[in-house]
Amino acid sequence: MKVWLAGVGALLLAVSGTRAAEPPSAFTVAAQARARTASDFADRQDFDFAGRGYLGTRADPLIKTADGRTAWDLSAYDFLKGEAPATVEPGLWRQAQLLARHGLFEVMPGIYQVRGFDLANATFIRGKTGWIVIDTLGSAETARAAYDLVSEKLGERPIVAVIYTHSHTDHFGGAGGLVTAQQAAEGKVKVIAPEGFLENAVNENILAGPAMSRRAVYQFGVFLPQGPQGQVNAGIGPGLSRGTPTLIAPNTTITRTGETLTVDGVRLEFQVTPGTEAPAEMNIYLPDFHALCMAENANATMHNVLTPRGALVRDAKAWADDLTESLRLYGDKTEVMFTSHAWPRFGRAEVDDFLGKHRDAYKFLHDQSVRLMNDGLTGDEIAQRLTLPPVLAREWYNHGFYGTMSFNARAVYQRYMGWYDGNPVHLAPLAPEDAAKRYVEAMGGAAAVLAKARTAYDAGDYAWAAELLDKLVFADAGDAAAKALLARAYDQLGYQAESSLWRNMYLTGAAELRDGVPNVGGAGQGASLLANAPLAMLLDVIAVRLDPAKLGDQSLAFAIVLSDTHERAYVTIANGVLVHEPIAAPGPVAATLTLKRADLAALFGGGAAALGPKIASGEVKIDGDIGALARLAGWLERPGAPFAIVTP
Ligand SMILES: [Zn+2]
Repeated sequence: MKVWLAGVGALLLAVSGTRAAEPPSAFTVAAQARARTASDFADRQDFDFAGRGYLGTRADPLIKTADGRTAWDLSAYDFLKGEAPATVEPGLWRQAQLLARHGLFEVMPGIYQVRGFDLANATFIRGKTGWIVIDTLGSAETARAAYDLVSEKLGERPIVAVIYTHSHTDHFGGAGGLVTAQQAAEGKVKVIAPEGFLENAVNENILAGPAMSRRAVYQFGVFLPQGPQGQVNAGIGPGLSRGTPTLIAPNTTITRTGETLTVDGVRLEFQVTPGTEAPAEMNIYLPDFHALCMAENANATMHNVLTPRGALVRDAKAWADDLTESLRLYGDKTEVMFTSHAWPRFGRAEVDDFLGKHRDAYKFLHDQSVRLMNDGLTGDEIAQRLTLPPVLAREWYNHGFYGTMSFNARAVYQRYMGWYDGNPVHLAPLAPEDAAKRYVEAMGGAAAVLAKARTAYDAGDYAWAAELLDKLVFADAGDAAAKALLARAYDQLGYQAESSLWRNMYLTGAAELRDGVPNVGGAGQGASLLANAPLAMLLDVIAVRLDPAKLGDQSLAFAIVLSDTHERAYVTIANGVLVHEPIAAPGPVAATLTLKRADLAALFGGGAAALGPKIASGEVKIDGDIGALARLAGWLERPGAPFAIVTP
């Protein structure tokens, strides 16, 4: 889980649930019945673990923002009662029921978790004088509500330390609801993170932020209504909180495995696991409790080696290797294992068995994808072929409620081989719209293709129906009959999907075919991220917004000096590119801009007009050509409306 959330948060105001209700077909009903017999629903161990130590929940289900919006609604998933309806894959329904449990739980005396208040968990460790909080949820409002619940049930104690297990927003975004930036800066509250945390928290998604935010709307079903025909779950948690993401910089960095710290009388031992689920991540062993925190490296579902919203591909081998190390380091002494998503696991044998078989799922995924790749199979072919051996597949935590074997197998292929499958026909493929027009014509015209698609739909062959209908829609975006039938095919595929993310993506695609792309403005990079970004990174963001058509053959050289962080840059724009170097200008420049980092970030967020009063007051200084800034602003592409995905 990731950082683009900061961008998504702002989009959540304009949700409308106008989707027509598509009933489950007879084929979908039959598919759910098959799924019900394929897995061990009599195994209720997870329900026992998820319910242990329950101490109560918040009285008011609504957690509000300062301006009255709902950041989280504890009652939103109350519909998850009883047997799965035919519109939800039964295993996913089970997972959703487990993850929707909300409240405060005693993991063991001294270790408590608030679960079901956000996508992730917040863990509170009782120190000598106060709380050590491991992961802060994704919004300041949900984090504050979690802390209030802890105070209500366990008594008022100060927060003495915050630990970020990794660099994803759902684990650090709530920090601002627990501590102030000043407390952290002055060291009054210890803020502990793995090496590389801040860089990765900011940069993992900043350049591609707008594209990732748009696709995250699909992945998380952000605009779907919650319910049996809409969003039911997000695989690793109920869904995204919609409050205020914050970023408070750490003041203590963990750099190596085996490093220890004693915080407020509690001993902490770290296993640093960079390049697994996140580029900066760590597990924590608590010897005083014989308890192990596995961050997001071990989960109640198969995770993503490649996230469908778009991301750099992860390393399934490193992931498995680090789980092997966790087992070696802590396997024989851990009595309780807890994680930053889902429920804990209790008992040494249980933890050992879980970590071993969960590791084996990633190891199998990696090794067998590579074997088949070396046999000449392409990513799509491996995805069709690869299934876990029964001994691993039957464990609920290896099911694909979040990541899937199908998607992950292609990710392993991509990591080693890239997107190209070696077939020269794919070197210069036709553009999708052009290809679609020609395919439709070659197949006998739109009416003939629609008839074939209808036959496939009526036979329950939704994947083939969708392939045909997608061609019709891309050949002619005005083809209402094709769009309507494609939406219905996506609905059935969504209902049958075990992965919450696939379900969300199919159902969002269906909604956009029916209602169009929600016009809620372009997704920008989150303000809290930009405000913490180094100067070079801010300029990288500007560089990828430069529109060569607006720039033409003009050029510009200028200098920037950040008065608070003492960073500087020499920036040249020519030949359609912006180049920046962290040096004083070596020659003449049109202007030198002297200002604070936050003001520069605001300039990129709100345009030059935002800085008018500060220029007038002298707080922002421009030496030289005052018009240079306006010229630069004129060459930049404004973040646009959300782009189309299921239509041309
Ligand atoms: Zn997470």
